[in-house]
Amino acid sequence: MRVQLFEEHNAKKNALSLFLITLLFCFIGGHLRFPQELSLFWPVNAIVAGVMVRHPFLHQTRYYLACFAAMVFNDSVFSGWALPAFTLNFANILFILVAVTLLVKHLQHDSSSERINSVLRIFPACLLAGLACASWGALAQQADFDGGLVTAWGEWFSEQFSTGLMLLPFLLTRDWASLSPRQLLQLRKLAPLIAVIFSLVMGAMMGGAGSLTFPVPALVWCAIVLPMPLTSLVILLTGITEIILVSHGVMNIQGDDNLLPISHLTSARLGVATIAISPLIVAASMDAIRQLNQRLALRANYDFLTQLLSRSGLYESLRTEPFTPQRKAGVILLDVDYFKAINDNFGHDAGDSVLEEIARRMQRVVGNEGHICRFGGEEFVVVLFDQNPEKLYFLAETIRQRMAKEKFWIQGGTVTVTVSLGLAYDSGGDAGEWHRVINRLISAADKNLYLSKRNGRNQTSPANQRILTSDVA
Ligand code: GH3
Ligand code: MG
Ligand code: MG
Repeated sequence: MRVQLFEEHNAKKNALSLFLITLLFCFIGGHLRFPQELSLFWPVNAIVAGVMVRHPFLHQTRYYLACFAAMVFNDSVFSGWALPAFTLNFANILFILVAVTLLVKHLQHDSSSERINSVLRIFPACLLAGLACASWGALAQQADFDGGLVTAWGEWFSEQFSTGLMLLPFLLTRDWASLSPRQLLQLRKLAPLIAVIFSLVMGAMMGGAGSLTFPVPALVWCAIVLPMPLTSLVILLTGITEIILVSHGVMNIQGDDNLLPISHLTSARLGVATIAISPLIVAASMDAIRQLNQRLALRANYDFLTQLLSRSGLYESLRTEPFTPQRKAGVILLDVDYFKAINDNFGHDAGDSVLEEIARRMQRVVGNEGHICRFGGEEFVVVLFDQNPEKLYFLAETIRQRMAKEKFWIQGGTVTVTVSLGLAYDSGGDAGEWHRVINRLISAADKNLYLSKRNGRNQTSPANQRILTSDVA
């Protein structure tokens, strides 16, 4: 059962869901607290922003108020803050507001060409949202807790920027179904993940400023091999791991000659954010290429006019059929009778619509029992497996009668269109693959089709199914 948290026209439900989600992640964020006022991670802003971008109808004042109320409630109850609960949380709302405003229009259409741009948009959106949030947050924090303004600003900004940049690509993924564990059972996909873990361990062991970047090649490898949602999840987990390792001193990146008054954690966060963006761009590009390839394959394998398999599509779909020497295959070759006359009398468009209707009728008769292909022009091929010659003949005759008995509509009137058919039938034999067998059967069926034409058209040859098996040369 799928729980739906948000519905466009159910304001109460939406406000309550947002309140509870915000409260839950404020609570979790609060328990990840570093021994400072701010959290090691404050995921709630990016999560709420992601939820709002996925459900654009939530981008309204009342829902921002619901989030704000949850944040204030959490801090008043669990942190014992009074005024700071209002002033500090306004910074969080600022992050959500800026990020959602910048992303909400652009991330609704998830076409492959848009994806790279979408990923690129997340970067400036997090940057500006982080700037707005840090500017207000640092001032509020200084007023309430009396800390160094620049240090506080750096911490706010780096945390919000990096958390947003790590979480949002994952949250805005549309096809989470590709995250199934079965995806990872192949070594080809597991290897880059092992490389990420290995590079993290190496980074922790060696330390130094460069150690943060060790996982970059492995992450780019993930981006090339794994689907986009999984890559964004790996980037997210890698970033979180690095920040935790740095904050606990396991990954020691601190230099002695700090030029700027920023903590090593702030520096690590900024580094992690910068690292995240490159594999993300690679992942988005790979995703776009994969989709484009799929679309091209689809275009090449299907006939544009009739939506049946094209000739190359037929050979492609034959690959899915298990080959055994004993397995039987049958071919029906169909040619429209006097089709040129239809073109000549009614025009090419009318001819096209007749071809479409012929394809529809063939599909209705054959269904899923065979592979139907527009072999070229006004010729069609049906390939069937595991049938006997009688069934092949019966199907061919049913197709022929469906054409001859029901008239075709052309330009407001009706015409009779007939077809001639030729059959061929054989077992796989020693050919080793269906491609060759079917080519041979099509040639044999073509000879029989010629007989149908010569004997007066609108008929199936051979009419006696018993001679089918001995018919193939
Ligand atoms: P027969 O009974 O001997 O098969 O006669 P026919 O007129 O059907 O055969 P012929 O091979 O002389 O003509 C086939 C025609 O099919 C010629 C060609 O212009 C037309 N044709 C081929 N592809 C298409 C198409 O995609 N659309 C249309 N409208 N016509 C096409
Ligand atoms: Mg022809
Ligand atoms: Mg013809």
